[in-house]
Amino acid sequence: MNDAPMSDALSFDNRFVRALPSDPLTTNARRQVPRASYSKVLPTPVAAPKLVAYSQEVAHLLAMDPAFVTSPEFAQTFGGNHVLKGMDPYAMNYAGHQFGHWAGQLGDGRAINLGELKGMDGQQWTLQLKGAGPTPYSRTADGRAVLRSSIREFLCSEAMYHLGVPTTRALSLVVTGDSVVRDMFYDGRAKEEPGAIVCRVAPSFLRFGNFQVHAARQEFDILKQLMDFSIENDFPSLLSSTNSSTPPIYLRWFQEICDRTADLMVHWMRVGFVHGVMNTDNMSILGLTIDYGPYGWIDDYDLDWTPNTTDAESRRYIFGNQAGVAGWNLAQLARAIMPVVNDAESLGAILQTYSSRFKQGHEQMMGAKLGLSSVQSETDSLLFKKLEELLSTYETDMTLFFRLLGKVNPVSALEEQWSILQDSQYGAQAGEKKDWMEWLKGWNARVMQDPVGKLELPRRGLMDATNPKYVLRNYLAQEAIEKAHEGDYAMIGELLEVMHRPYDEQPEFERYFAKRPDWARDKAGCSMLSCSS
Ligand code: AMP
Ligand code: MG
Repeated sequence: MNDAPMSDALSFDNRFVRALPSDPLTTNARRQVPRASYSKVLPTPVAAPKLVAYSQEVAHLLAMDPAFVTSPEFAQTFGGNHVLKGMDPYAMNYAGHQFGHWAGQLGDGRAINLGELKGMDGQQWTLQLKGAGPTPYSRTADGRAVLRSSIREFLCSEAMYHLGVPTTRALSLVVTGDSVVRDMFYDGRAKEEPGAIVCRVAPSFLRFGNFQVHAARQEFDILKQLMDFSIENDFPSLLSSTNSSTPPIYLRWFQEICDRTADLMVHWMRVGFVHGVMNTDNMSILGLTIDYGPYGWIDDYDLDWTPNTTDAESRRYIFGNQAGVAGWNLAQLARAIMPVVNDAESLGAILQTYSSRFKQGHEQMMGAKLGLSSVQSETDSLLFKKLEELLSTYETDMTLFFRLLGKVNPVSALEEQWSILQDSQYGAQAGEKKDWMEWLKGWNARVMQDPVGKLELPRRGLMDATNPKYVLRNYLAQEAIEKAHEGDYAMIGELLEVMHRPYDEQPEFERYFAKRPDWARDKAGCSMLSCSS
């Protein structure tokens, strides 16, 4: 019998460590780290790591044997007590603008990259623990994460993936057996909470801030090295598609980042996701959704909504502001890479294309939500604008409305159409029926002119593939958290299962296709979250 550890089958690589300059100091003490892209650091052991949930798909993607995932070795490793052969753990150095202000060095204060694995898809995937203990970048904090925020990150990463939204993924959720002290609303009522660690997985965890840190310190040689690294490893197609008329590589790279970011913003608007903390250190170079903190899902459609209580006053990161703020963040990235690119005019021109790509993508997406295969700018934007107005005036559930609209027959009686949509309203208000029927009339006429929209099955196909039936509503994650605090982790698995096929009708989970219950309207964890996690 072969009794080598099951993890021996995994072959780790560490390209980032090999290619970029390391912090010469190896003590794990908080400090400024000049002239280095990372610091080597080991996870800090925990009392009693226990696996409470994992993503079978991510494990499969990483070619991990299911028997390994459920073995004690896995919980020890992904709880931070054990380092597998070939791993070379490190924390990344980055800076950032937080809430619009330059914050200097931030870095992975509680994230530790373990190493990379080649996936079944041929892609290289970095495995990263979040909450694995302090690093040189922890500043005044403890390097840990609480169970509630870890459940939210674990579930939402996988939900977003299945919704077709670019995102970092999550392999595992391990409870540590240690408690972590948090003052959830910064009001002096700190309390002990169970600690947890999520293993996040992505082709790269590079953020805008990784480039900003070297730019701010005028370490232009390292800045260039990091840009070259990103291009070679994460955008290799840019290297192969050159001819004499293509712009220089760094411009094409920046263009690609702008394009991906624009597309990501369109997706967030499509599914009703509010990130909550779009600081430049939380913006992925790959255009992935990264760092699930005080994020939230739109229940009643409200462009002014943010779940983040830390942003309640300045409202920088509200739902309707996300594309604009991403553009601002891209401008900060452009400034950071300028010393290497040396072409302000071209960078400026690329930034302009970000806005137009978002605008176009957003219109196309709104059209698809309404069953239109293409949009006619002028007239359709009026239809969309009026819709947005009604959705917010009449407190309408975003997910329910669009999904139910797919069921509406545009040649049926208006009364009948309205009765289908009525379920998406949070309360009856004077005038709503008349206003909605008026809008429906316009939609009926428009959709019947569209080659896809006029045919029932293709229209429904387009709408159902654009408008999810299930999203990870804030109150659902909160219910799973409350149960987990009582030691019952079953709902995490159930939500993972529902969110596995968010566009499919799943009659056994019909209860998850429902408006936010009244108790969740203003409840902490549902509509109010802070950065304390
Ligand atoms: P965030 O805005 O929450 O993504 O984090 C901003 C910065 O704070 C990053 O440098 C994080 O690594 C760091 N950070 C957040 N929470 C902790 C923590 N509990 N311990 C150490 N660093 C943290
Ligand atoms: Mg962050």
